[in-house]
Amino acid sequence: MNIAERVKQCGVVGAGGAGFPTHVKLQARADTIVVNGAECEPLLGSDRYLMERESEKLIRGTGYIMRSCGATRGYIALKKKYAEALRGLHTALGDRDDMELFILDDVYPVGDELVLVHEITGRIVPEGGIPPDVGCIACNVETVVNVCAAVEEGRAVTSRYLTCTGEVKTPSIVKAHIGTSLREIIELCGGQTVEDAVVVLGGPMMGSIETDLGAPVTKTTSALIVLSPDHPVVQHKTTPMEFIIRQCKTVCCQCTYCTELCPRYLLGHDIKPHMIMRQIGYGLDVPERVIQNALLCSDCGLCAAYACVMGLSPHVVNRRIREKFAAAGFKPEFSGSSPVVHEMRGYRQIPTGRIQERLRLQHFYERGLRKEVHTDPGRVEIFLRQHIGGSAHPTVQQGERVKSGTLIAEMVEDGLGSSIHASVDGVVSLIDSERIIIEKRD
Ligand code: SF4
Ligand code: SF4
Repeated sequence: MNIAERVKQCGVVGAGGAGFPTHVKLQARADTIVVNGAECEPLLGSDRYLMERESEKLIRGTGYIMRSCGATRGYIALKKKYAEALRGLHTALGDRDDMELFILDDVYPVGDELVLVHEITGRIVPEGGIPPDVGCIACNVETVVNVCAAVEEGRAVTSRYLTCTGEVKTPSIVKAHIGTSLREIIELCGGQTVEDAVVVLGGPMMGSIETDLGAPVTKTTSALIVLSPDHPVVQHKTTPMEFIIRQCKTVCCQCTYCTELCPRYLLGHDIKPHMIMRQIGYGLDVPERVIQNALLCSDCGLCAAYACVMGLSPHVVNRRIREKFAAAGFKPEFSGSSPVVHEMRGYRQIPTGRIQERLRLQHFYERGLRKEVHTDPGRVEIFLRQHIGGSAHPTVQQGERVKSGTLIAEMVEDGLGSSIHASVDGVVSLIDSERIIIEKRD
């Protein structure tokens, strides 16, 4: 069985993003593999921890991906401040000459795949493109470790590492069974320290508010940031769209900072958030192409969290435009021509620490993270769709006894998707169109 097939059987999906099925990535051809160890969102720490703890698996996993894609060069990209991870990876690399460590500046969003590929190789992914368009495949740290476990042990994805921090008693790196409730994770971290706490799933910049603490951990849950309701991050994420548009009409001064600091604009892509705001605010005759280019936005949030002097949210406006395009089935064509990097790019890098301060997150960062606590759920709720592509189809029956690692739902043959496995030993107590619930029973 080849590498991609093993990875497919073990249900490995991109752990750092939307859950793109990894076996599909592994079937692409590329000359360069980039392991994204930037973990550039403020407060997150599980990738850094995994690089320390599983450095050998990370190197071997990178090797498998290189072999699968026919790549001759591998880079593990991480920040200089990850000293322990750097030491471990350096030792694990040994005398391999097909891979190297690449040191990144502590700036945001250096972990954006397009930014990362440019930093390492000097190549620029064309507008609307993806890293394979320039011969690169980028993978998240935990994904690579899961590839290694799949290839060497046939081990399915049944758990994931995540960061739980903010207003909890003991901020921690948690190894969580897939399907554990968010409430259990917070309790494992000593419980929330403020009333009416709000949970951000994912990082403070790109994450989203989750109001249901009974919701389960999925293969793509990278973090729970627990915050008070009046925290700027929560305020920002809960501002209604109508208010954002009103604000845009009344206070956008067209200073252009959102564009001048936009990481995709600086890479040479034709995205100009200030012009999109101009169209929204003043209804001037901005060319259609400018609005379409909202699709070039990575949703990194830098324009709102740092660039805009008036506290506006160009990225939320971009997101709304993208949603409208998607609902209408509209897919604009991009030229595919090679962008040219902005001459000022090197001078417009934003240190992560400044964003942390701006968002009043610094004191959470300073508290540090307890390393590796494990969940022990009595019940797990496992979604049939935790990835890009179609839902998996159940392969078990209600009342059936399963073991951790048992295949409980398989992907549609020849479709885009991923298979799903039980994360605990127990009995299947419910199956519906969205989930399988397993309870531990004697
Ligand atoms: S979120 Fe803002 S800064 Fe980030 S890519 Fe989009 S427009 Fe640019
Ligand atoms: S930075 Fe803010 S005020 Fe300036 S153009 Fe952009 S949205 Fe308008």
